[in-house]
Amino acid sequence: KMNTDIGQHILKNPGVAQAIVDKADLKQSDIVLEVGPGTGNLTTRILEKAKRVIAVEQDPRMAAELTKRFQSTPATAKRLELILGDVIKMPELPYFDVCISNTPYQISSPLTFKLLATSPSPRTCILMFQREFAMRLFAKAGDKLYSRLSVNAQMWATVTHVMKVGRNNFNPPPQVESNVVRITPKKPRPQVSYEEWDGLLRVVFVRKNRILRSGFLGTNSVMEMLEANYRTFCAQRDILLDDGPLDEVIGESMDVDEAGAGDEEWDGIAEMDDEDDLPDFFKEEADRKAKKLQDNPNRKKKGKVAELVRAKVKKVLETDTDLGDKRARLCDEGDFLKLLYAFNQEGIHFS
Ligand code: SAM
Repeated sequence: KMNTDIGQHILKNPGVAQAIVDKADLKQSDIVLEVGPGTGNLTTRILEKAKRVIAVEQDPRMAAELTKRFQSTPATAKRLELILGDVIKMPELPYFDVCISNTPYQISSPLTFKLLATSPSPRTCILMFQREFAMRLFAKAGDKLYSRLSVNAQMWATVTHVMKVGRNNFNPPPQVESNVVRITPKKPRPQVSYEEWDGLLRVVFVRKNRILRSGFLGTNSVMEMLEANYRTFCAQRDILLDDGPLDEVIGESMDVDEAGAGDEEWDGIAEMDDEDDLPDFFKEEADRKAKKLQDNPNRKKKGKVAELVRAKVKKVLETDTDLGDKRARLCDEGDFLKLLYAFNQEGIHFS
């Protein structure tokens, strides 16, 4: 029996299975990574066209079926390497040229991020996703579905639509329609650190309807993270910091406005997007702390380094980029690049 909880919707239409593999334009020399081979409907077809398949399957029963399927063809079986496990938990993916996957819906987001972060980048990825998820890959600044996923996908790759696949092509049929998309990583990779870029996006997309000033200066956990990173940055470069508490308590009023500004347009649905892969401390702590901060207008500022970092962030948002009043959901790749560059120039880092 299939376990639909772990996204086992087996493709039952052989025409669709063949089309997916054909769309990958495989070469005889290719090593293909297949995520979630299931019973092997795609796997057999990939093996006809490629040199080797590395298949990662989490479910031992599926893995057993797959092994059985190739028992009578040892020459083919030799070209299939089956890894039993969760692809997301693999610290590093093995080398591959192309990724093909009828992706289990619950790992769509982390798998996509993982593929985008992979370096050297694969030549291309042909992935089947649930429609909503696929649409998020294409979303542009200002669109309802625009998210950290959209920005990352379009930063590191070219994403194109390959075909629609109706739910009745699967057994059991999933709730929604599916789309096959092609994700082709840009070559050469943009000369930006993935960790820095994604670190910045994680901060700004915690609340994408918030203006950037509030997401940074009004969010204590973010400022603490930036301060910690700044201390590391300075330590690595033997830059001495004037540490310690501030001499005087500075009357506080500005941050209160900053933290509150721009939050009215809260949109629960739009926020559901890829927050599931944000660490909890970002989701809950940030909210809680920002709230506390707003509730306590007379709070003391923490220390000289915190003040320095705060001043740098202010400078970046207000002087260097003029993006402080812009909402994350309206910022495009160019805005984020400008922002990251300006932060890095000030020694402010996100990883
Ligand atoms: N490729 C087959 C097909 O097209 O018919 C099966 C696709 S089915 C949607 C997804 C498969 O991924 C299932 O076999 C499931 O056990 C497996 N799977 C789910 N989560 C996984 C994970 N985290 N790592 C590896 N495989 C996973």
